[in-house]
Amino acid sequence: MVLSKNDAVEYCCFAMNTEITFGIYGDKSGKTLKSLISLINGLEEKLSRFITGSEIDRINKASGKFPVKVSRETFEILSVSRKFNKITHGSFNILLGTVTDTWDIKNSRDIPEESEIERALNLACCDDLVLNPVVQTVWLRKEGQSIDLGGIGKGYAGDRCMEILKRSKIKSAVINLGGNVCVYGRKPDGSLWRVGIRHPRHENELIGFIEVMDRHVVTSGDYERYFDDRDGIRRHHIMNPITGCPSESGLISVTVISDNGIAADALATSIFAMGMGKCTDLIARFPGSEAVLVDENLGIHVTKGIKDSFNLIDGKSVNII
Ligand code: ADP
Ligand code: MG
Repeated sequence: MVLSKNDAVEYCCFAMNTEITFGIYGDKSGKTLKSLISLINGLEEKLSRFITGSEIDRINKASGKFPVKVSRETFEILSVSRKFNKITHGSFNILLGTVTDTWDIKNSRDIPEESEIERALNLACCDDLVLNPVVQTVWLRKEGQSIDLGGIGKGYAGDRCMEILKRSKIKSAVINLGGNVCVYGRKPDGSLWRVGIRHPRHENELIGFIEVMDRHVVTSGDYERYFDDRDGIRRHHIMNPITGCPSESGLISVTVISDNGIAADALATSIFAMGMGKCTDLIARFPGSEAVLVDENLGIHVTKGIKDSFNLIDGKSVNII
């Protein structure tokens, strides 16, 4: 879908396994849109584990065998992912590919055998990710290991989109990469962007919205991809790397607001996996980042720095953490 008038273009497409929408406002918006689309397609071709021959696919297939030479982008995202693994004491782990494959949340209706989870978990060790910056190669030490960038790839893409927007003549833009919203500048009318935060249990409702400019607003929730098991437990797509099962941290939605897209994405996934107790310490390590959490009782919690730009929908209350 393309809607183009004067110097504005709105467009929607499917890439990176999700729906992506663009609103680009200003001089040469069509040209900027084309650059953004080709950037996203190019990144997907390198980073998707589902595309045969992508750099990640080649690394995964060479696991236990040999190092693979990769592009600057792939090397960068893997280096940052490893850094987040350290910062989160293992909660953020891109080597969970074997575990996500075992659960196959999208297609399964039943939980895997314990032995299968254990086998998958034994391979999910970030220390086996060997990065050689001199020759820009990546090696997974053990055969069968698998990189999954699902928790960070769209955040990286968001940063790269912002770079394009900064280099362009565009004054104002909003890009929604399947729940990772990037807002650039202010709205064309000069006001701040309003980004809604979805109610985790009611599809067409918001719990609130934030008013921001030049920010990445990234949400991890348990409501996009899940199934309910025989005992009625919701099994979603964010894994606890210790148990090898969907996390049960008490949080059902985590939104991180940041000037850094890759950090916002990795932090949202990590805080979701770790729970509310770890949120403030982690967020404090990233100046320019704030969080809005929803717990399993639908309680809303926000970090101090965002309280003035966060607006609740009527009838709800908020706890400041
Ligand atoms: P989404 O991309 O669906 O908006 P997230 O950014 O939270 O949500 O990413 C979830 C995806 O990240 C999962 O589908 C899986 O591919 C991967 N993943 C799951 N658990 C973890 C984890 N603990 N650390 C890193 N990546 C994870
Ligand atoms: Mg994420």
